[in-house]
Amino acid sequence: MSIENRAEAIIDLSAIEKNVKHLMAHSSAPALAVVKANAYGHGLVAVARTAVKAGASWLGVALLEEALTLRAARIKAPILSWLTPISDDFAAAIKNNIDLAIPSVAHLKEVIAEAKSLQLTARVHLEVDTGMTRGGALYEWDELVAEAKKAEVAGVIKVVGVWSHFARADEPGHEFNDLQLSNFEKALEVAKQVGLNPEIKHMSNSAATLRNPKAKYDLVRLGIAMYGLSPDVNTMGDSKGLGLIPALTLRAKLHLVKDVPAGSKVGYGGTAEVKTDTKIGVVAMGYADGVPRNADSSAGVLVGNKMSPIIGRVSMDQFVVDLGKESQARAGDWAYLIGGVIGSDKGDSYTSDTCYTADSWAGACGTINYEIVTRIGPRVKRIYLD
Ligand SMILES: *Cc1c(COP(=O)(O)O)cnc(C)c1O
Repeated sequence: MSIENRAEAIIDLSAIEKNVKHLMAHSSAPALAVVKANAYGHGLVAVARTAVKAGASWLGVALLEEALTLRAARIKAPILSWLTPISDDFAAAIKNNIDLAIPSVAHLKEVIAEAKSLQLTARVHLEVDTGMTRGGALYEWDELVAEAKKAEVAGVIKVVGVWSHFARADEPGHEFNDLQLSNFEKALEVAKQVGLNPEIKHMSNSAATLRNPKAKYDLVRLGIAMYGLSPDVNTMGDSKGLGLIPALTLRAKLHLVKDVPAGSKVGYGGTAEVKTDTKIGVVAMGYADGVPRNADSSAGVLVGNKMSPIIGRVSMDQFVVDLGKESQARAGDWAYLIGGVIGSDKGDSYTSDTCYTADSWAGACGTINYEIVTRIGPRVKRIYLD
């Protein structure tokens, strides 16, 4: 007997392929596909392969172990890893031909030491802080480029890239973007002065790729948009308006369907009350699977083409929805938390009017679609459609 899945994230790889092509046509710069955090919950290796097939020439990850997983899957494309604490296994990175982002002189020194002892050349991308005040060198930039130049002359490292990251790219036209670009230009000038000549300068995330042609440089880093989601629905519009196809459908089984009387208080704390006699559905997925506990009734599930809102608090493994008194739903039916139309015609029908989306879930609990998809937990089986 086979056991059916309780909860599934169905990833339409052809949607990812179309999104990569659409975004590359938009920008005309080569693309780095960002596949950190299990490819935003969509599945690291499958998405990386698809993105490369679609034309992305680079892959980007936060963690070194993500990069090593890609190499173990025999993915040969250049990979940049940008969150590598000083205690990381830089030797493994160098041996596996993984490019390292360098945000400080201390990081650079560690990488140089490993490269020397291996007698190999480490490939690095120097990271400059242009205003986000998170990663990258600030006051240390001059020293960082000088040290890097020395090590490059000695053949210990190759400075492949210089890069930075926008804080407000999802507010196109905001002057802070221009300030960051001008700081980036100054940093590039400092690098040039010491004789560095990096092949690849890069600055753009999805939002900048879509809305800031001045920021393209030699490579654009495609994250959320590659998955078919908008970087910010309020400032940039939704997936459909951006010509993107959401790749992920999320569904779970209805564990139980039953009639309940008006006045029933639902869930822990009895925070919600059923107004009329109705039929409820218990959905077999909860906050341990990434369903936000504080989602309000503007989120829910699509069952038999009916949008059925959440009632009460989400529990660890389950939550309750109002199916409506006349619902024909039965235990064992699929409840769609995100999407509902699987397969190729999704482009036109996938909007928040016809089904719940990562954006409706984000709106229902005061976060962004990024957090909704990246938090889908390991108990949810990933299924791939080509
Ligand atoms: C996550 C990330 C990106 C992708 O950002 P999106 O907004 O998802 O396009 C690009 N660059 C870096 C350094 C990142 O950490």
